[in-house]
Amino acid sequence: MNIYPRVKLFDKPGIKPQHSRIPIHNALRWEPANEEMQRVQPPLSIFVTQNAYVRMCAHAGSDLDNEVGGWMAGKYCRDSLHGTPFIVVDTVLPAVYTEQGAAHLTFTGDTQVALHNHLEEHYPNKVFLGWYHTHPRMGVFFSAWDLWLHQNFFPEAWQVALVIEPHQSVGGFFIRKPDGTIDQRSYFGFYELTNRRQRSVVFWKNLQPAWDSIEFDEEEESEEV
Ligand SMILES: [Zn+2]
Repeated sequence: MNIYPRVKLFDKPGIKPQHSRIPIHNALRWEPANEEMQRVQPPLSIFVTQNAYVRMCAHAGSDLDNEVGGWMAGKYCRDSLHGTPFIVVDTVLPAVYTEQGAAHLTFTGDTQVALHNHLEEHYPNKVFLGWYHTHPRMGVFFSAWDLWLHQNFFPEAWQVALVIEPHQSVGGFFIRKPDGTIDQRSYFGFYELTNRRQRSVVFWKNLQPAWDSIEFDEEEESEEV
């Protein structure tokens, strides 16, 4: 009894990456504090604006009993120098018409259509980069249901999922490996776009700033003196 449409609304074939410089100079890299997870290189670099991060966290904290979620949109890019693929999450669209329940969240056909129209109308130059949702009191992992939703609604190699646990203030990204599979237990960090010297707004306890990005910042500062 499957009432959820398998229509891949967002799977516009032939979405090409924009060519742009990867913005590591304006970003702080957050990696899992868990050393085992740290050792796995993210298959894709994810950049998140501070506004987008704060919006998702605010939504995540708005209901501590039920799962809430929504979409992430922005740019899918390829570094114009090295060819590295990366995404920039700069737009957050909270799902309003979801069927919420403590067990899981889903996107209904209506939500999909409403959000898709909204993006086309208001952000014609952006693409859906994936989705985020909360796991109140459950931890950060990718359930079988999450995997099903992800593979059906966000099938592109560069589409990702973010899981947030609002009670413990932890979160992590799930990214496809080159072979298309997803490790359901191991998550990744991301790059926080900091607009130069702005203070970090990331407060998740399971992530830590990566040393390479801190050292990079210091080097830059000394150059300017
Ligand atoms: Zn889930």
